[in-house]
Amino acid sequence: MTIFEDVCVVSFNPPSVSESCDVACAGKGEPGEGTIVEVGKRLAAKYPGARRVAGAYLSPGLVCGHTHLYSALARGLLVAIEPSKDFAQQLKNLWWRLDRAIDLPILEWSAMAGLADAAMCGVTSIVDHHASPEAIDGSLSVLKSAYEQIGVRGLVCYETTDRNGPEGAQAGIAENLRFAREVDNERASGREPLVDGMIGAHAGFTIGDATLAALADAVGSTGRGIHIHLAEDKYDAVDSRHRFGSDLAARLDAAGCLTPRSVIGHGVWLSPSEIELMNERGVYLAHNARSNMNNSVGYNSLLHRHAKVVLGTDGMCADMLEEFKFAVFRHRESQGPWWPGEFLACLDRGNRLMEDYLGGTFGRVERGARADLVLWDYEPPTPFVGENVAGHLAFGLSARSVRSVMVNGNFIVEERKPAFDLARIGARAREETRRLWKRMEER
Ligand SMILES: [Zn+2]
Repeated sequence: MTIFEDVCVVSFNPPSVSESCDVACAGKGEPGEGTIVEVGKRLAAKYPGARRVAGAYLSPGLVCGHTHLYSALARGLLVAIEPSKDFAQQLKNLWWRLDRAIDLPILEWSAMAGLADAAMCGVTSIVDHHASPEAIDGSLSVLKSAYEQIGVRGLVCYETTDRNGPEGAQAGIAENLRFAREVDNERASGREPLVDGMIGAHAGFTIGDATLAALADAVGSTGRGIHIHLAEDKYDAVDSRHRFGSDLAARLDAAGCLTPRSVIGHGVWLSPSEIELMNERGVYLAHNARSNMNNSVGYNSLLHRHAKVVLGTDGMCADMLEEFKFAVFRHRESQGPWWPGEFLACLDRGNRLMEDYLGGTFGRVERGARADLVLWDYEPPTPFVGENVAGHLAFGLSARSVRSVMVNGNFIVEERKPAFDLARIGARAREETRRLWKRMEER
């Protein structure tokens, strides 16, 4: 048992900052394992023997709604990459050479490095979208093992695509199905998984109708939602109307792939009628402001029309507070109607995605909720109250204030020290990076 003593609880939705209180959490093997067992006053007397952690600000853990852990070893990439004139060329010249060069050991250390980074930034859940066309089978289990070693929760899927022929597409679908069964078996044996699976697909323009039908079957048979990039670049939207005679979202819906557990990445070029359709079906939109800026794909000026926006990093550095700031400031620059408060609701909404897949209550500091928490060292220079939580996040609070991070009642970072070997992960990641970059030169 851990008791956070004299903490002010920071809630994101609705935003609030509480009076000083105690929060008791059950760790591994304790009654109520992985949950907050009580919020109140002077709890130490009630739970003798509990570990006592002195106060500061305590908030729910942060959720990343869309990323690519396979890109963690692309940081500072020193490989000769032909200059690209557009997004499709950028995929071909850079990202599709990178993903083909990934083998399972490279994936393992890429994921370990990316997850460790995220944990240090107070991120407790991560939704990953994975591709490694030359090492598909078993790749999602490699990812899952990395999540478990770092102690972060999340969802994974394999980016099914037709760009490596029908066999490549079938292997992608098979990996999503295999992994869903693995998680179902884990549940059937009475264990609670830290990681669940979605049905992954790369993007509208790399998925033909036969593969889309097979993905829809996988959605139906596993009960999971699809996770796909749509309209990240205008090219995807144009291609869908040109080749398939249909808007992207309508095409997915006609196949039966728009369900309330689905995540659509980017959606920069979706039309108002497609957004309406997504809202009717209850589909999540993962907004990745920094990545869209970096890829020059344009700004999602209809973002505010989406009902279920979550924030993702799309493989950029894992810091979700930084991502939140980018989302806010890029939107302000475009003179959109949202303010930091709306983006705070988006940051919080990643928790609903966790609830949809993993069950229980996420993102709340209350009795019975999941004990996924961040303890912050923060000395606000101005009053920190419910009305300005979003303002403090946009203009002040940053990952440098993360003191301790708890997932499922267990510390993965405590007093700024990770429970994993950060130096070893860095060393192994750099070794695998050398191999990855060399393999990229060969492709
Ligand atoms: Zn992405």
